[in-house]
Amino acid sequence: MAKVESFSLDHDAVKAPYVRIAGQEQGPNGDKVTKFDLRFVQPNQAALPTSAIHTMEHLIAAYIRDYMDNVIDVSPMGCRTGFYMITWGDRTVEEATKAITKTLEDLVNSTWDDVQGTERQECGNYRDHSLWAAQEYAKEILAQGFSIDPFERKSLED
Ligand SMILES: [Zn+2]
Repeated sequence: MAKVESFSLDHDAVKAPYVRIAGQEQGPNGDKVTKFDLRFVQPNQAALPTSAIHTMEHLIAAYIRDYMDNVIDVSPMGCRTGFYMITWGDRTVEEATKAITKTLEDLVNSTWDDVQGTERQECGNYRDHSLWAAQEYAKEILAQGFSIDPFERKSLED
């Protein structure tokens, strides 16, 4: 059975919110893919409600691409403590941290009209959305700031 990188991370040792690289892969033609762990809340102490993380998912999908090129996917973690982001290329924690910070700032300033894909035909659980909750959690995350080191608080400006 394959050993999964994220399961070897000590989830008690990390200090959320943070951004870290969770892995890099190289394809047969030499293309690189970078996977980021965008951790929003402290593992085993907090979790985003499904309505909040779901609406975040819809808004992040739209906004992150304004700040980061070649994003393949941003998807919520099953534990509801953050998102994984997968991008083309050999990428840095610094650019991902800037991008997710600007994305959450846009999210905080969004209205319901900005949330795409909220009709029944467009979403797998269209009743389970809360922009209000998404914004309240995003404000808390932004107030703490994303650390560029998962184990000690280190901001982009340090
Ligand atoms: Zn949805």
